[in-house]
Amino acid sequence: MTQTDTRTDPDLEGGPESHTILNPATEEIIATVPATPAAAVADAVRRAESAQRVWAALPPGDRARVLRRFAVQVDEAIEELAALEVREAGHPVAGARWEAGNVRDVLDYAAGGVERLTGRQIPVPGGVNLTFQEPLGVVAVIAPWNFPMPIAAWGAAPALAAGNAVLLKPAETTPLTALRLAELGLAAGLPEGLFQVLPGAGEVTGRALVDHPGVAKVVFTGSTAVGREIMARCARRVTRLTLELGGKSPNVVFADADVEAAAAAAPGSFLDNTGQDCCARSRVLVQADVYDRFLELLEPAVLAFRCGDPTDPATAMGPLISAEHRERVRGHLPQDAPAAIRGEIPDGKGFWYPATVVEARPEDPVATAEVFGPVAAVLPFRDEAEAVRLANATDYGLSGSVWTRDAGRALRVSQAVRAGNLSVNSHSSVRYWTPFGGFGQSGLGRELGPDALTAFTETKNVFLATDA
Ligand code: NAD
Repeated sequence: MTQTDTRTDPDLEGGPESHTILNPATEEIIATVPATPAAAVADAVRRAESAQRVWAALPPGDRARVLRRFAVQVDEAIEELAALEVREAGHPVAGARWEAGNVRDVLDYAAGGVERLTGRQIPVPGGVNLTFQEPLGVVAVIAPWNFPMPIAAWGAAPALAAGNAVLLKPAETTPLTALRLAELGLAAGLPEGLFQVLPGAGEVTGRALVDHPGVAKVVFTGSTAVGREIMARCARRVTRLTLELGGKSPNVVFADADVEAAAAAAPGSFLDNTGQDCCARSRVLVQADVYDRFLELLEPAVLAFRCGDPTDPATAMGPLISAEHRERVRGHLPQDAPAAIRGEIPDGKGFWYPATVVEARPEDPVATAEVFGPVAAVLPFRDEAEAVRLANATDYGLSGSVWTRDAGRALRVSQAVRAGNLSVNSHSSVRYWTPFGGFGQSGLGRELGPDALTAFTETKNVFLATDA
């Protein structure tokens, strides 16, 4: 069975009538969600436009208060939202709780920015020059299935805070948390129609949103292939666009690092969320002098990364999202590829895939393509120059880690690696108050951090002549 119902209705312009949502850990059907036909998108945009006019006219303090109440609603629903995420995305419950908490924090942080979103007065001769940060209007947020809740919030919260309306299109497999978030927003006092969730197929509902002339900006998080298509479609009307796309991030371990700490931390960097993480450090580059020692230490750390029932708080790794995705992950590795390390998976139903580490050459597909599963390629390097060359041997540039005790090297390598989010002696990439985004084929623009709200505004410059 596929997770997207293939029944079609000609009135829905070829899209599915509904999406059947499965629990990836059990393969049980947990919900059937109606898809939004392309024709209904225009109506959603109209409702969003009128709600946006009301919202943008409110005093900033009032908008901030509603968003803070939204954050409180999310905080009170953390267990419920986490349980939904466990069921529809198969995420281990501890991670799902973090995700729901991240939504709360992102809303709270955006609320704090509402009154601080100000223009400037720039000295000019003969008058006064003012800049205004004006909302864009209606923003479409198109989200993936891998972190459905936080990624929806990273786009929606600052867009709302800056005075816009948001139409959120969740991924086909994971609409349930998005639908619940919209209910919580309404309960917090968002005007009706300001934050709507439009479940549906990417090629139907997503495309109709991107093409609609009433949509002022698209925030897309997903694969690089779809991101390119959306960018081309946005070019026709110069629709504003943020792209958060794929990655194939390096984890560079130098011989002068705390190798024990690097090996202990490495499994989390490519196995968290079953490797379905745009920031996954799935290319592990290890200096030749400590390569064998690192692999020896890595094996028990990977095998200790417990894969199983996501409702169990002791579980570190759940299933993949779907049977189709498991086939895609398999396709990156030849059937007989020898794995240096392979973990255990539960018997029975569920889209399980074992933690897998392979020794690879730089040109091997497993070392170059985004696998988006619990698979890492390990490669040796000789010296710093080769480490940087290998780290940059990809068109992606989302994140990466550098392990060394040499502070100069840490900074040199961080500056030389072309990626948007680097960590030294750590794999941490995401903080809601610091900017996040990619270089190269990993994206365009930044989310989160102090400039998040400005990205959802146009800058207007007004000159007032004062000379008599
Ligand atoms: P995807 O590109 O298949 O789909 C993402 C979203 O786009 C879904 O909602 C889908 O329905 C929609 N979509 C698909 N085709 C569309 C079209 N033609 N027009 C409009 N919308 C369309 O990606 P996915 O498989 O859901 O997610 C995995 C990818 O997302 C990976 O490549 C991963 O690296 C990337 N990702 C990036 C980040 C980041 O912040 N850089 C974060 C998470 C995931």
